[in-house]
Amino acid sequence: MPENLYDAIIIGAGPAGLFCAITCSKDKNHRVLVLEKMNTAGRKLLLSGSGSCNITHSGSIKSFVQKYGNNGSFLRHAFAAFSNNDLIEYLNNNGINTIEADNGKIFPESMKAGEILDLLLRKCNESGVEIMYGHKVHEILRDKGSFRVRASGKTFLSRYCVITTGGLSYPGTGSDGDGFRFSGDQGHTITELTPALTPVKTSTTIDALTPGSKPIPELSGITIKNASVTLNRNNRKFVTYTGDLLFTHDGLSGPVILDMSRYINPGDTLFVSFIHSSYESFEEEFILKSRNEGKRMVKNLLQSSGVPERIVQMILDLSRIPHDKKSSEINREERKKLVSLLRDCPFTVTSKDGFNVAMATHGGISLEEINMRTMESKLAPGLFFAGEVMDIDGDTGGYNLQAAFSTGKLAGDTIYRKFR
Ligand SMILES: Cc1cc2nc3c(=O)[nH]c(=O)nc-3n(C[C@H](O)[C@H](O)[C@H](O)COP(=O)(O)OP(=O)(O)OC[C@H]3O[C@@H](n4cnc5c(N)ncnc54)[C@H](O)[C@@H]3O)c2cc1C
Repeated sequence: MPENLYDAIIIGAGPAGLFCAITCSKDKNHRVLVLEKMNTAGRKLLLSGSGSCNITHSGSIKSFVQKYGNNGSFLRHAFAAFSNNDLIEYLNNNGINTIEADNGKIFPESMKAGEILDLLLRKCNESGVEIMYGHKVHEILRDKGSFRVRASGKTFLSRYCVITTGGLSYPGTGSDGDGFRFSGDQGHTITELTPALTPVKTSTTIDALTPGSKPIPELSGITIKNASVTLNRNNRKFVTYTGDLLFTHDGLSGPVILDMSRYINPGDTLFVSFIHSSYESFEEEFILKSRNEGKRMVKNLLQSSGVPERIVQMILDLSRIPHDKKSSEINREERKKLVSLLRDCPFTVTSKDGFNVAMATHGGISLEEINMRTMESKLAPGLFFAGEVMDIDGDTGGYNLQAAFSTGKLAGDTIYRKFR
């Protein structure tokens, strides 16, 4: 076999690429090459979960498919090929114990992403996978059923080619969008690419109520457990998410915002609910309490409903109600305004953090052009995709790494079958 001739070439040594390589080289009889532009593999994997690597989630596979916006059902076959339980078992069988943290997030017991990367590299080594570092792929050409891959002045040939170059987020890790160009060259459509899993900057609440609104530093650090947040665009409800919300020095973050950020655009309004009951029942409760505890200051009354002090202060300011006003002194109009702000407090999105901060990319290679049972291109036979380069982005909680492993496995299994 000529030196530069391979059975499969995989572009990108992230989790999707490495796991695909391990899978398709399992009988060690085939030459599998991974080309990686950086000098080391898995740089983003090493950053995952702040270095602790939230590798997957303990939820049911049925619940998994709901965690990728509108595109989760594309992953059904990939999850059937390699589920969260398969991934946990694979790690356990290879000496990595896992633990389940809050909300079902799964981590390696060591809380070290490096342990996962070491395992992937060891498995590649054991299967005879060649990894060439510092090889940035510039071009992929397809000719008579085989691929010519050009990287760092060299040309490599192969029957099968897998694009696992990741998305656009954290470009310093190596994933800066090359894979979209290669896929486009092969006729693929790239859907709109926007940052996902990212905080947003907001202007203070309601412009209408506070002309010349300014940022809201005084709320920074406040967490609202299980807040319900509704995204409105052009005065129409777009989507509602529920989860923990965090106020930052210049806007909103926390899992609920990160998860819905794939849909958020500047100019959108986020309506945050600080209470769990409906408008009507909260108002009823408020009326009752003000009757029974009329001498109590309204701010204390609201705090006793579990609303944080600084939020209560903001809501009173926005309603133009003095902080020392007694609950019996609140008139109907003031009450309606208070309840409405507690139930649906609007924040206008001024900007969304970019790809340097976003943990994932919303958009990618159009899923309509990829066979979900094999991960093979419907347009260019022999070309495969796995991981974040596809139009797949998951919520926080380990869903992105699971998608990278599952799609890498499915692509690898398909290529392995084609070898035989
Ligand atoms: C800070 C941070 C924390 C995260 N934490 C979590 C978490 O805890 N849990 C979770 O599920 N997800 C997490 N994610 C998301 C997750 O890391 C990614 O979804 C996952 O790494 C995607 O895997 P991938 O293999 O598709 O792509 P990547 O990991 O991006 O790997 C792509 C590889 O391709 C290489 N490459 C790109 N272009 C070329 C080229 N032209 N030639 C050769 N090589 C090329 C890159 O250098 C890179 O090594 C996090 C992301 C970030 C940024």
